[in-house]
Formats: sequence, C-alpha cells, structure tokens
Amino acid sequence: MTLLNVNGYGKLYVVATPIGNLADISFRAIEVLKKVDLIAAEDTRHVQMLLQHYGITNKLVSLHQHNEDKASSVLLEKLREGISIALVSDAGTPLLSDPGMPLVKMVKDAGLDVVPIPGACALIAALSAAGLPVTQFSFEGFLPRTSSARKTFFKERASSPRTWVFYESCHRILASLQDMAEILSPDRQIVIARELTKLHETIVKTSLGEALVLVEQNSNMRKGEFVVIVDGATVDKKEQLMTPDQEKILRVLLGECSIKTAVAMAVEITGLRKKLLYQAALIMDEEKTA
Ligand code: SAM
Repeated sequence: MTLLNVNGYGKLYVVATPIGNLADISFRAIEVLKKVDLIAAEDTRHVQMLLQHYGITNKLVSLHQHNEDKASSVLLEKLREGISIALVSDAGTPLLSDPGMPLVKMVKDAGLDVVPIPGACALIAALSAAGLPVTQFSFEGFLPRTSSARKTFFKERASSPRTWVFYESCHRILASLQDMAEILSPDRQIVIARELTKLHETIVKTSLGEALVLVEQNSNMRKGEFVVIVDGATVDKKEQLMTPDQEKILRVLLGECSIKTAVAMAVEITGLRKKLLYQAALIMDEEKTA
C-alpha cells in the first residue's frame, strides 16, 4: 500500500467503520488504520473502542461538525507535508449524514488523492434487505425537526415513483410516521430497519398504516437507530401520485373551469408536474361523465 502519491503528498483515506457489529470492517480498512500516520475521527473516544478491539494504536485528531473547516485546513497542510490520514466517523461511511465533506472537497480541489475504503453504511444495509425497488432511490438524510416542515417534505415526495430513504432517531420515529400518515396513503409500503447488525436488529416491511400501529403499540419499536424506506408512488394510480388535499384541489378546480385552466391553476397551487395533473384531470373527467 502506497500512502504517498507521486509528488510525495500524503493520501487521504475515507474509511468506513462498523454500524454496530464490530466484525463489519474490511481487512483493508484495518490495514489502512494501522499504517496511516494519523486518524481524523468524529469522536476520538468513540473510535478508540474499535481501535482497541483490533489492536490498533495510532495518533488521533478530532474532526467534527463544529471544527470541520478549521481542522480540514490543518489536515490539508499535513497531507501536503507527506502525512497520510484516515478519516473515520462514529459509525458507517464518513460524509453520509456525518462529517468529512469539507475535508474531502478541500483535498480534491487541491489535486491530492482521496481513496475510499468501502464498508458498512446503514442506508445500503437497509436497502439490501428491504425488498423494495432499488434500481433508483433517493437518500434524504435526516428529516426536518418540526412537524410542519416534515409534512411539507412528505408532500413534496408523495408522488415520486422512486424509493426514498431517510435516517431517523428514536426520539422522532413515532412523530415522523404520524406526520407521514397524514400525507401518504395508509397502504403505502414502508420498511423500518432498526438496530441493523446489532442484537435487536429488526427489519419490518409493511403498510404505513400498520407500521404506525406497530410503533405506537410496541415501545421497543421506538428504541435504537432507524432507517426508514418508503416505496415509490405507483405510476398508474393517480390516487397514489397525489395527496388527498392535492386531489381535492384539482377536483374543485375541474368543477369550475376547463381541464386546461384547472390544470394550469393546480400546477401553480400544488407545485406538481403539469403532466401528472393533466393525466389525473383526464381520469377525473372520465369518471364524471361515466
Ligand atoms: N455514516 C453513517 C452510515 O454510513 O450509515 C450514518 C451516520 S448518521 C449520523 C446516524 C444515523 O444513521 C442514525 O441516526 C440512524 O438513522 C442511522 N444508523 C446508523 N447505524 C444504524 C444501525 N445500526 N441501524 C439502523 N440505523 C442506523
């Protein structure tokens, strides 16, 4: 393994670490963590557990969301001096809802080498066992903290045909599902992946309505760390492409004006795509005359 590039600059290794089960780390990751000159960690005490487990003694510096910009500049200078660095976060793949983006950008912009050392990631682990389409998906990170912002977030994604995925904490899992249930149909399939790779790993695939009841009634389902995966809207059913409120707006407008005007106004009000609203309007119009 060459820890320096051709100009003698150090390389930055972005190293994935376990998301629970300490065995989920690659041989290559352990080798890198042993051989680099410095490990930049989100929480130096936290990463010590992992390092001790694998008998790794190495120098640590902290790089967390509150010192990222300053610490990244210092680390870039060290790379320029020929010092090799491994970047790790508390769990999983750095940068994925974790610190590291400013450092990686800075190092790339400076033309130095950034080497990924792939491994655990809660998002990918959850998707791999969910049984929902993964050909195309969108990762949304953590949801907004307020209920109204979350509802807006759900409205914006209600008609997306893609699978979408978000991270959630035990403090907000119930509130997030309650907000989701106000916007999406109770039939929408979702997967709750909880405590992945740990003792109490639970992966439930069910309808949104049933998931909500489960989380409300079983306090264990409100403990630990969560990935939530939501099935995309079914393209051939207008009901699932639009929220009940959006559908009502279109229906009222259709009662008052022509299809063209109703669709144009609905685009303005809902922000939905014209094509989608037009298709829904045609179906509603057919229903009216049937
Ligand atoms: N960088 C990490 C990754 O690669 O997955 C994610 C870090 S983010 C700060 C932490 C969030 O990831 C948790 O709040 C939870 O939503 C999700 N997460 C991390 N580990 C998990 C696990 N073992 N099971 C389920 N979700 C997990």
